[in-house]
Amino acid sequence: MNCIFCKIVSGEIPSKFLYEGERVVAFEDLNPQAPTHILIVPKSHHENAADLSLGDPSALLEIFKAAKQLANERELEGYRTVFNTGAAAGQSVFHAHLHLLAGRALGWPPG
Ligand code: AMP
Repeated sequence: MNCIFCKIVSGEIPSKFLYEGERVVAFEDLNPQAPTHILIVPKSHHENAADLSLGDPSALLEIFKAAKQLANERELEGYRTVFNTGAAAGQSVFHAHLHLLAGRALGWPPG
């Protein structure tokens, strides 16, 4: 399978992990949309968050644990977490991942 996030998880593509746990890693987004833009990624391959919830629910829990830890470390006042699901919603990498965004005013509704 030619999955870029699987390659980052395995180390085939080098990356600096900001968090690494049993089932999850986190690293900076290549094209940040906010001063803090971290991707929290399960080590197991599932196309989207809903599939992850069925295939590896422990990883889904760890994703939110990692988000809390990263937010605490950075003393973020507030942050937004986003799972894009499907190309129509903006998903471009089909390996589930949570976007953790912070550090600027985040408008609502989202674009
Ligand atoms: P999504 O559009 O929700 O699927 O998000 C995919 C995200 O992955 C985008 O924000 C990209 O900027 C980011 N991205 C793609 N390739 C890499 C990479 N090699 N390292 C870090 N982030 C990446």
